[in-house]
Amino acid sequence: MLPAANPPAWLGVMGGGQLGRMFAQAAQSMGYQVAVLEPSDVCPAGQVAQRLVNAGYSDLDGLDALAAQCLAVTTEFENVPADSLSRLAERVFVAPNAHGVSVAQDRIAEKRFFVACASKSGVLPAPHMVIATQDDIDSIADDLLPGILKTVRMGYDGKGQFRVRTREDVRAAFAEMGEVTCLLEKMLPLAYEVSVLTARGVDGESVVYPIAENVHRDGVLFTTTVPGPNVSDDCAARAQRAAQAMVAELGYVGVLCIEFFVLEDGSLVVNEMAPRPHNSGHYTMDACVTSQFAQQVRAMARLPLGDVRQHSPAVMLNILGDAWFADASDVANEPAWDQVLALPGACLHLYGKDDPRRGRKMGHLTFIAATLPEAQQRLRDACLILG
Ligand code: ADP
Ligand code: MG
Repeated sequence: MLPAANPPAWLGVMGGGQLGRMFAQAAQSMGYQVAVLEPSDVCPAGQVAQRLVNAGYSDLDGLDALAAQCLAVTTEFENVPADSLSRLAERVFVAPNAHGVSVAQDRIAEKRFFVACASKSGVLPAPHMVIATQDDIDSIADDLLPGILKTVRMGYDGKGQFRVRTREDVRAAFAEMGEVTCLLEKMLPLAYEVSVLTARGVDGESVVYPIAENVHRDGVLFTTTVPGPNVSDDCAARAQRAAQAMVAELGYVGVLCIEFFVLEDGSLVVNEMAPRPHNSGHYTMDACVTSQFAQQVRAMARLPLGDVRQHSPAVMLNILGDAWFADASDVANEPAWDQVLALPGACLHLYGKDDPRRGRKMGHLTFIAATLPEAQQRLRDACLILG
């Protein structure tokens, strides 16, 4: 087995978004040097990394430059071409590897994996079928409707999804999406949503963070609360066991987050997985011994995994560009961060994006407190300030 990559080695990351930025910051605080590969020359991770390799995700010269400099490479988004990860892996340790990422970036492969793994994980995905042609729409079983039509690739934050009631709705939505291959999922009666963040090392040891309860608005994560007010010990244990069974089955190395639905009857359904740190895991930065980004550093550098214990109850709020337009004008106004930061337990993380747009993730705000109700009250206070 390869030895650990100790600091001040170079670590590489595919992608320059906020997850890459927070990864770089965690790596740097441990003494690593970070190189980011990203086509756009102004990006959240590029602002903080020691080196920005300005190249497309499939650019061979760019990939080779990253491989030549780094002892290990990771990714901050699931849509990085799996071939690029394979190319990098010829020269450098890559975690997660192309296989894990390729399963997570394709909703069909992901659902197949969940079904294949069900005897070990104890959970199934929502009933679903592939819609690849107009003809498929005729054979939709009655009990798959109402449902959600999702593009198989590149969907995120509720983008590339249509809620459908009838076959005619499916036809219209499928046409609207340019007839790209889609997955139709039965609409389930959700009681609440949870996610499980897990990390697995090269030695096969895995760790699992406390379960997080998530509220979405308009398809985008709105808040994460840990411990989740609705989550029972039994539900948490089932979801955590399922997540660990899945990373083991994938032979995965690195941080992975799995989203689950909890239905009104208490049953658990697996929704999707992200082969990287996840928005719902941001609370770990302020409330756990080892943040999800520091954990990714440890996994890819083949170090022992870090302590996942949570030391404080936490609530995380995503800060969207909308907060800059709280007074309903078209001119962006910087939110009153001084007032937000005056609230006890406030931990603010802004991503260095200079043009706020409605719906755009600009940062997040976590409150930690001695008790969960206290953290939740601070969050309500902050929401009043942010509009
Ligand atoms: P994304 O990749 O955009 O996060 P998801 O599959 O997680 O896509 O869907 C986004 C949100 O839509 C989920 O968090 C959930 O609130 C809702 N949703 C998705 N699939 C279903 C379903 N089958 N039944 C009910 N709600 C769903
Ligand atoms: Mg999701």
